[in-house]
Amino acid sequence: MTRRCFIAGNWKMNKTVSEGLALVRELRGALSMVRDRVEIAVAPPFSALHPVAKALEDSNLVLAAQNCHFEESGAFTGEVSAPMLKEVGCQYVIVGHSERRQFFGDTNEGVGRKAQAVLKAGMSPIVCVGETLAEREGGKTLDVVSAQVKAALGSIPAGQGERVVLAYEPVWAIGTGKTATSRQAQEVHAHVRGLLKELWGTTAQKVRIQYGGSVKPDNAAELLSQPDIDGALVGGASLKAADFAGIVKAKA
Ligand code: PEP
Repeated sequence: MTRRCFIAGNWKMNKTVSEGLALVRELRGALSMVRDRVEIAVAPPFSALHPVAKALEDSNLVLAAQNCHFEESGAFTGEVSAPMLKEVGCQYVIVGHSERRQFFGDTNEGVGRKAQAVLKAGMSPIVCVGETLAEREGGKTLDVVSAQVKAALGSIPAGQGERVVLAYEPVWAIGTGKTATSRQAQEVHAHVRGLLKELWGTTAQKVRIQYGGSVKPDNAAELLSQPDIDGALVGGASLKAADFAGIVKAKA
């Protein structure tokens, strides 16, 4: 089963509209020759989604959002819903990023509701899971990741499973410069695929599982060569066109 490699750049709370448009211009130039083998997405902050959507027209990059609310509309000051993101041109929405879990109280159950809202709106969720350093050192990695995956995806039927993207992001590797070894990452990715098989049967083979955590041009090829690593969710290195393009080209 070949799964199309998927590299997504999470800009987090970085880039004003003008800075984001400048980055997209550079990315379009640097990545114009990358064809079907790799799917590429950028996830700007909400404020830049609409202009970036326009700037991506007729390119080989697609748009993602970094979060959404699970309700479609209502009295939720400061929140943005999945149908709103769909209308602005998003194809993907990141849900359950560890920074959301750590700083904004996102729970496993809430992440599941967000994933369902994204699917209902006609987009694909990028569902983030991953253990903290204390959990890894306590030998709890696989248990923690299992609980996150089951809570987030347990209510999603197999027929929709193919539209879901997982991102395994060990919290201790995010923004720290510490990357999981390709062996550590592959072990968890294979475990996650096993869980998906329990949930969705053969559909599990079609689901893409990204790795995230200090992915850089110089470690991307090794990580992406693992059998169950189907792409990368990139934070810091997605803010510089040359670095992000270098990661994409590790697979292209
Ligand atoms: C992330 O925030 O999803 C991430 C992986 O960040 P970084 O690449 O900076 O570690």
